[in-house]
Amino acid sequence: MLQSNRMNGLHPYVPGEQPKDREYIKLNANENPYAPSPKVGKAVIDFVENHREKMGLYPDPDSNELHAAIADMLNQCGGVLCRAKVDGDKVTPAEEDKIPFTVTTDMIYTGNGSDEVLSFVFYAFFDSGEKFVLPEFTYSFYPVYAGFYNIPMDTIALKSDWTLDTEKMLSSAHADNGGIIFANPNAPTGLGLTREQVRQMLLKASPDKIFIVDEAYVDFGGQSCIPLLKEFKNLLIVRTFSKSLCGAGQRLGYIVANPELINIVTTVKNSVNHFPIDALSQVSGKTACSDVAYYVETSKKVVEEREKFYDFLKEKGFFVLKSQTNFIFAKHDKIPGADLYKKIRDQGILIRHFATAGIEDFVRISIGTAEQMQALRQAIENIL
Ligand SMILES: *Cc1c(COP(=O)(O)O)cnc(C)c1O
Repeated sequence: MLQSNRMNGLHPYVPGEQPKDREYIKLNANENPYAPSPKVGKAVIDFVENHREKMGLYPDPDSNELHAAIADMLNQCGGVLCRAKVDGDKVTPAEEDKIPFTVTTDMIYTGNGSDEVLSFVFYAFFDSGEKFVLPEFTYSFYPVYAGFYNIPMDTIALKSDWTLDTEKMLSSAHADNGGIIFANPNAPTGLGLTREQVRQMLLKASPDKIFIVDEAYVDFGGQSCIPLLKEFKNLLIVRTFSKSLCGAGQRLGYIVANPELINIVTTVKNSVNHFPIDALSQVSGKTACSDVAYYVETSKKVVEEREKFYDFLKEKGFFVLKSQTNFIFAKHDKIPGADLYKKIRDQGILIRHFATAGIEDFVRISIGTAEQMQALRQAIENIL
């Protein structure tokens, strides 16, 4: 046999489909329907046209300017774009999102998408001798990494209202002496814990075990845990440019944590690929962070369309979870999830259906532009 036993045991992640048979409205991968800030386009053109020689050189291995720009963006918006206030170019956090300290450059780590970041985090903090704890329904890449690194896990069922069972997660973590990971807000449910709920978990969790919160969607209305970082040295927050920063094609994800944790992940990175962020992504990422006002506006637009769509689905008799993200998780008791997905696809719109026991009745729908959502509402009307 050519391949290793390790290789034979892999169960890779299956992404939302990208069919080529016709033009679809794509509401299946939680991408942002808006393009990045025009400033990002200009900066990339300027880099390629006027600094082409830099493409022949290795980029800054520490991505220092990018990290400074990310820290600055977080300080401006408080880590939740959709609630931030904009006055001209000036952005200030909503009262509830104010961070009681300044996020500094040494608290940031970046990688090629938060998927790569998560992979290094799993390697750095979870051990093969200890089960880590995760919710039953959450980002489906976590179990993939568990398999990849051969780390045992303990999966905790959600409560009947689809929220995390924080008590069970904690008791399992204590029993197994392992770390904890979950997305907040969670996917695919779209439901989030408040910062105070996470704080209560952290108070009860072991301070010697990693506690990872994946905030991929928090900019659309959750509560960020960044303000808790000074109180809890074992807290590690993963975030991404792919959703609220309209940059899924950029492949930029990042960590916000205390410098000791950042140094640990950096050691892993430097043992695999010393230069993960290419020069062009450093430029485009840095520039995106310099135009926070733009992304506050696009996030607000997504939230507005989400609320409109929520009301529509309710009115049409769907069971809908109250999302704090850029997607909605819903089901109809007369139309199975797989049928709904197929019938909407036949009308040129892609949404996501998971053939996973327990959530197979649901579909997950990413929030698009006003026009895309209008087309989707029409498609659903046609089906009903
Ligand atoms: C989309 C998503 C990611 C991955 O983001 P990338 O930065 O594009 O790799 C990570 N975690 C969650 C919960 C996500 O939904």
